[in-house]
Amino acid sequence: MKETGQCPKCGKTTPNKGNRLCAACYWVPRAQHSAKLQLARLEQHWTQELWRAFEVWLLRNFSPYNAWKWMFPSGDAFAEFDERFSSAQDMTTESVLSIGGPEWLRKHGYVSRFLAYTKIVDITDRQRNEWAEQRRVQDILDASRDENRQILNAFIDYCQSGRGIQSKTLRVYLKAGQTFLQSTKTPIPEVNEKAVTNFLRRHPGHRASLFRFVTFLRESGYAPKAAVPKRTRKYQSNYSERVIGRVDTFIREFDATKSVARKRALGAATISETLGLPLEYCLRLKREDINLKIQPCEVRIQKDWYSCAEVVDRLIREVAQLDLGDDRLFPGKLPSDTLSAVGAEYHVKVAFKNVILLKEEHEF
Ligand SMILES: [Zn+2]
Repeated sequence: MKETGQCPKCGKTTPNKGNRLCAACYWVPRAQHSAKLQLARLEQHWTQELWRAFEVWLLRNFSPYNAWKWMFPSGDAFAEFDERFSSAQDMTTESVLSIGGPEWLRKHGYVSRFLAYTKIVDITDRQRNEWAEQRRVQDILDASRDENRQILNAFIDYCQSGRGIQSKTLRVYLKAGQTFLQSTKTPIPEVNEKAVTNFLRRHPGHRASLFRFVTFLRESGYAPKAAVPKRTRKYQSNYSERVIGRVDTFIREFDATKSVARKRALGAATISETLGLPLEYCLRLKREDINLKIQPCEVRIQKDWYSCAEVVDRLIREVAQLDLGDDRLFPGKLPSDTLSAVGAEYHVKVAFKNVILLKEEHEF
């Protein structure tokens, strides 16, 4: 039994032995003191009011320790506002961004969350993540030289044309491309399926993310013979423990769930995992892209036909029985789109959670 104590100030039970102050009684006065010092730096009435609101918001929404820790650096951001703007109306997304760009706002994460919360400046978490991803993409480019950098730049243009791509996905593809360029010994114009096979033997984790880059090398003419080797259909013997574990989880949840959306998501995830192709491509499959006349069935992705593993065959046939009128295998909510990769990944996460719960139940 762990010993506990009592806070001498508020009487709350604390995890510390003896009569030590609880976290709130210890950190809140320190945070408030820090806030007072910061307040003294501000000259305009409206920034002082805004600072007080920030202090309350910070103390109410975060742990007393974090409130104390962030009070002081946040004061710097408010001092900038005090110096640059003459009223809250002057604060717009553009004017705040002009202080130090997205980097500055990311550094003052609590302040930008507060500004979003008060609707003074509408900067969402999503935008901040977007900026972070753009920064990482830039870092990858900065780490590449000369011809490699040129190729990667052209690859970014290629990814951004047409359908559009999420920044995170773009970064993952770019990283795979960069790793490939750095480590392949074959001159780029001569890259072929064998060169890609050699690379994947050393970097099996890049398989799905490299697909787009290799397609780009071929289509753009950098390497006309570039191709990702197809996986063989022998399931168990050719796959890593990790892939087998994931596929087992998908199939278990596929059989357990009654949700049609989840069945579809897991069907697509299983195809993606066993063929080693990006999930977004698998989600775009149409009925004309599956050949159910043979066993195991075949699917067509980017003009290539792939023979499916036996374990996937049953799932594809079951999914194909849903919504027979629709020409898409994994329809989304709108008539024109398919299930999104983000949506499908959500179901994958749920599958992992459920399978773990199931295992725990069996243990007791
Ligand atoms: Zn206390």
